[in-house]
Amino acid sequence: MTDARGRLARHIVDLPKSGIREFFDIVSTRRGVISLAIGEPDFDTPWHIREASIASLEEGCSHYTGNAGLPALRQAIAAYVRERFGGAYDPAHEVLVTVGASEGLDVTLRALLNPGDEVLYHEPCFVSYGPEIAMAHGVPVAVETHAEDNFRLSVEALEAKVSPRTKALVVNFPNNPTGAVLGREDVEAIADFAIRHDLILISDEIYAELTWGGRRHVSFASVPALRDRLVLLHGYSKAWAMTGFRMAYVCAPAWLMDTILKIHQYAIMCASTPSQYAALEAMRQPAEDMAPMLRAYEMRRNFLRAAFAEAGIPMHNPAGAFYAFPQIARFGLSAREFAVRLLDAENVAVVPGTAFGACGEGFVRCSYATGMEQLKEAAARIARFVKTL
Ligand code: PMP
Repeated sequence: MTDARGRLARHIVDLPKSGIREFFDIVSTRRGVISLAIGEPDFDTPWHIREASIASLEEGCSHYTGNAGLPALRQAIAAYVRERFGGAYDPAHEVLVTVGASEGLDVTLRALLNPGDEVLYHEPCFVSYGPEIAMAHGVPVAVETHAEDNFRLSVEALEAKVSPRTKALVVNFPNNPTGAVLGREDVEAIADFAIRHDLILISDEIYAELTWGGRRHVSFASVPALRDRLVLLHGYSKAWAMTGFRMAYVCAPAWLMDTILKIHQYAIMCASTPSQYAALEAMRQPAEDMAPMLRAYEMRRNFLRAAFAEAGIPMHNPAGAFYAFPQIARFGLSAREFAVRLLDAENVAVVPGTAFGACGEGFVRCSYATGMEQLKEAAARIARFVKTL
């Protein structure tokens, strides 16, 4: 095809390729790699959840559900969000079952943005935020967070980037890739900022259940003053180890959900029916299902903190999610060079911090959604590697 570029959507063609993908392409050419690069649980979904999905198919549930999802699932979600997040949502009009939090973010941004609207988000962050905002014709505006601050999002940093064109703010705590969490004071200060500047707050709380050292997640849904301007994204991928089911949900006030639902209805119809039955089963005994996984993550996180300290690799306190974000700047290599040379020398894959935004330079992301034995071996190899630098 001549002039292929001219025929394509300019705002998509101009998007950069994902920095993680480029690195995974290198990793995939090698054998025997211990990978700390993966952003999904190493656990399989609890069996009774898989079984419920199989049973739904055996019973003939191979048809569409209503656009917004099974009523029983939306009721269970509303109950969970009320109890766990402190937010009250009407399951009939304010809860939407989506194909992962990824779809939830996409439909929310598309419902909100007109071309040129600015959206604030903080970096380092999940690789999709900037591109998702751009794909919805918005203008991504990154706000930096820093290790010295434990990667908390400060109102001063937000104030420096907000403008009359700012429409929304995307936040993610517990954070991928830094493991940062927010306390009640931070949450209230950010909520106050959003209200003062009349912004929609989109809070991706997909790691809500994964907090360590006795910390408990504070949800933006627990701030009553945000009720009419908050979009809560949460789902089953992380805490229930259900990435392949592609199950998540959006909670939003009815005025906004109406428009979000319109996009979901035309683009998706409804989330996968057998996956929705799995999610419904996942709501039956969440604490029991999660407990062994959470125990394992916390042990691994404690192990990694100690191992990096012993190896002389500085790290802030990762209090949530399943990522450590050690600082490697002192070894005189860029994040990418560090990751490539570590892979070359010791066959251990980590992700350069720059994959999550420019201010991730000087850091690498190590996922501890990896078995303890592999983690121990990887830590020993990393310690050996940094001694050579
Ligand atoms: N948000 C964050 C912060 C994530 O880390 C991920 C997955 N890596 C997602 C959203 C996407 O999750 P889902 O599987 O629900 O689409």
